[in-house]
Amino acid sequence: MVPRNEKAAVPISPERVRQLRKHLVVVLRALRRMKNPEYSASPLRPEPKGFAGRVAHTACSLCKGSCCENGKNHAFLDEGTMARVGRARLALDGRAVLRLYVERVPEVGYKDSCIFHGKQGCALDRSLRSDVCNSYFCGGLQVYMTGGDTVTPTMIIAGVGEKMRTSPILVP
Ligand code: SF4
Ligand code: SF4
Repeated sequence: MVPRNEKAAVPISPERVRQLRKHLVVVLRALRRMKNPEYSASPLRPEPKGFAGRVAHTACSLCKGSCCENGKNHAFLDEGTMARVGRARLALDGRAVLRLYVERVPEVGYKDSCIFHGKQGCALDRSLRSDVCNSYFCGGLQVYMTGGDTVTPTMIIAGVGEKMRTSPILVP
């Protein structure tokens, strides 16, 4: 059982983009001040594979990213993420990294959610997301992912009441 995002989709305001830019400038400055920034690069965790991966993908799609509301205008982007992105894209300077993110902000996104949370889901690919985003599972999904049972047919229930949605029964 997982939650479900029911927020309205609204245009992303220029003020929100300004906040994101400001956040990234602070993070990039902090990264520049580090002695060995390459050692602080956060790992790029792979997507969960196999049946568990299919369950997670189905759950997050049905939920439509309820947990992304915590991303606000910072998307959990920190020095570790910037160090990882900088290492993978050596040709980019700080300004280009800033542009890389700002250009990905969708025109329309869910109200009071992460600035990258658009109607098609997260506008950042995995390599640009924070480690928080790449590793987080909400309560219900975490229980499933760590339970070790990937042989039982599984159905996802997202949300409650009239807005509740269920997935088909997924079979390993
Ligand atoms: S981790 Fe949980 S809350 Fe977050 S998108 Fe997936 S199902 Fe929804
Ligand atoms: S960056 Fe993507 S995955 Fe992370 S909180 Fe924002 S929309 Fe969600």
